[in-house]
Amino acid sequence: MFNQPLRFLPAPGEPRVDQTPPEVRTSRRRLRACHECDWLVALPPLRSGQRADCPRCGHILATRHHRPAQRSMALAMAAMVALLLAISFPFVSFSVSGFGNRIELTQTATTLIGFDQPLVAIAVIMTIAVLPGIYLLCVMWLQLGLLQGQPLPASRGIARALAHLNPWMMADVFIIGALVSLIKVADLAQIELGISFWAFCAFALLLLATTQSIDSDWMWFSLAGEPLAPEGARTGATAAGQGLTGCPTCGLVNRLEADGRGYCRRCGERLHARLPHSLQRTWALIAASALMYIPANVYPIMTTTSLGHSAPSTIIGGVVELIQMGSWPVAVVIFVASVIVPVGKLVALAWLCLVVKRSDELNASNRTRLYRLTEFIGRWSMVDVFVVAILVALIRAGSLMSITPGPAALAFAAVVVLTMLAAMTFDPRLIWDTPLPRDSRETQGTTE
Ligand SMILES: [Zn+2]
Ligand SMILES: [Zn+2]
Repeated sequence: MFNQPLRFLPAPGEPRVDQTPPEVRTSRRRLRACHECDWLVALPPLRSGQRADCPRCGHILATRHHRPAQRSMALAMAAMVALLLAISFPFVSFSVSGFGNRIELTQTATTLIGFDQPLVAIAVIMTIAVLPGIYLLCVMWLQLGLLQGQPLPASRGIARALAHLNPWMMADVFIIGALVSLIKVADLAQIELGISFWAFCAFALLLLATTQSIDSDWMWFSLAGEPLAPEGARTGATAAGQGLTGCPTCGLVNRLEADGRGYCRRCGERLHARLPHSLQRTWALIAASALMYIPANVYPIMTTTSLGHSAPSTIIGGVVELIQMGSWPVAVVIFVASVIVPVGKLVALAWLCLVVKRSDELNASNRTRLYRLTEFIGRWSMVDVFVVAILVALIRAGSLMSITPGPAALAFAAVVVLTMLAAMTFDPRLIWDTPLPRDSRETQGTTE
């Protein structure tokens, strides 16, 4: 790997992939601006297994993997095979007093369309199969080019898309939803897990491993080299204070236009010193999701018909029912995912928006940690929506026993999506935007 001659930036129109790690090849300093606190730092040389954290807020700047292209390619191919198996075989079957039903994975979405819930159906199928499928194809396309030493067409656009797809893939959340639904009906009917259930579990794990394996610092270096850092950039100070910003997709530090905007020189992503109207947008999304949380709790999320008797149940009603059945652990899972997480997330984001102007260096780390938590937990609220999708598709035995979705399912799915968007529009760098004491400004930093 290291004995090939050093090659320099590819000539225009003739992209070549350099398999040498960036730090071996380049003698220039590689600058990065932390996405969470905007601190400008020089990346140290990284060996495989090492990672670089921001010295100010602890955000991970880069992680170096051993043989990143081979690793991502192998994991993506395995995940794709597992996904294909998961959609081709029976997922789970149930039977009660001689009546039974067997469903495939995709029926968890298609059955919802039959009950006039097309938006929930789209949310389910997109997050568990379509977006992960697209993501895996993108990873394979990119890594194939990198392995051959010649990026395939559209590689840069695809590499940019990968970062945007990431938060919307929810295969792991769906597994929790499936387990909760099976425990919910285990007392009432006989449940049998199909091949596809196990294939889907493998798929969810492999997908997680694939997303973790992407070494985007190495990938962007291999796709497009490392253009020189802007002249006069000083490390140990904020990027915005010097008219610079770090690209949110490829990490390259760019100089912004006078109006605080620009495009990344390496990947073409739109750049802003700070996300435009971050606080206003976050407030609007918080308000919208708080409003949607009302119908999500007032209306029934599903209606269970058993021996001709229909019983609608709300989210809280479902938790109470589970406690009465004695399924404490499942009740806790649903209560945390459907009540604690969305409400906690809304309160935390609203609080961050309120106090962001009064942040200082002392409390900024804790506030950034709180922000990271709200960003991380948001998608786990989808558990209850997946439970509805699975039960509605599976429990179909006419008047003997059947489950239909309620209006709260759509309202609750909207709450999840809106709170996720609210966390994305909040710019954590605002927490750190506070004037530094004069003496520390003078002593810190070196000039490039
Ligand atoms: Zn930082
Ligand atoms: Zn970029």
